[in-house]
Amino acid sequence: MYAFRRFAVRRSRQFEWLYQVLERVLVGLDPILSRIGYGRLERPMAFVERHVKGLMFDCRMCGQCVLSSTGMSCPMNCPKQLRNGPCGGVRPGGFCEVKPEMRCVWVEAWDGASRMKHGDKIRVVLPPVDRTLEGSSAWLRASRERIQAIQGGDDANRTALADAYPEARESAPTSAPLTAEPGKGGAS
Ligand code: SF4
Repeated sequence: MYAFRRFAVRRSRQFEWLYQVLERVLVGLDPILSRIGYGRLERPMAFVERHVKGLMFDCRMCGQCVLSSTGMSCPMNCPKQLRNGPCGGVRPGGFCEVKPEMRCVWVEAWDGASRMKHGDKIRVVLPPVDRTLEGSSAWLRASRERIQAIQGGDDANRTALADAYPEARESAPTSAPLTAEPGKGGAS
């Protein structure tokens, strides 16, 4: 919902904190989540995520959430789905070229980032979206990627993107994921 989306940008600092807490909780719960099986958790978690983030951020479930790097403004709401800043068509007042009634997603992103503790992450170049991850839970992916960063054990098939975008991997690990997908390479 557009009003909530703009609210989230205005409260980006608080959402940044909330996201950090959520990530820590999920990382802490990894022993339990692993026992249940990430594969089994995927559908219920994606269901919750779709509804919560859909309401708050107009989330499109790209599966590679970068809200913490984009001022809590979802880049997938850009009609051109640009992930690294605005196109050249921003209208006066910061409105979108394609949807003139909507503020440019990237104008909002810079606004949100300016309020955040780690808002400078917006300067890190993000890789293109991997469409095969669409619809999956970015929350679960984020915690798996953090655990991977601590414990290692990456999926050899997925190193190309992570190697090409090391800064993005560091600031928003889901944007260049390394862990095997549940049921595809060992992560159950
Ligand atoms: S970046 Fe992706 S996962 Fe995050 S809110 Fe946007 S569509 Fe949803």
